[in-house]
Amino acid sequence: MAAVRELIGLACDGCKRRNYTTTKNRKTHTEKFAIKKFCPNCRAHTLHREHKVS
Ligand SMILES: [Zn+2]
Repeated sequence: MAAVRELIGLACDGCKRRNYTTTKNRKTHTEKFAIKKFCPNCRAHTLHREHKVS
């Protein structure tokens, strides 16, 4: 069931740079999510939002 897990990127809300990629389960996470992560470009912890990769 590979189609259930969707590859997504996490883009910094400040500089819009995509710093992380992850997968999410489409069945359990149907809504958009955002997470605080370290952005090397901003050199700070910023909000990273889900960003479609493919
Ligand atoms: Zn940033």
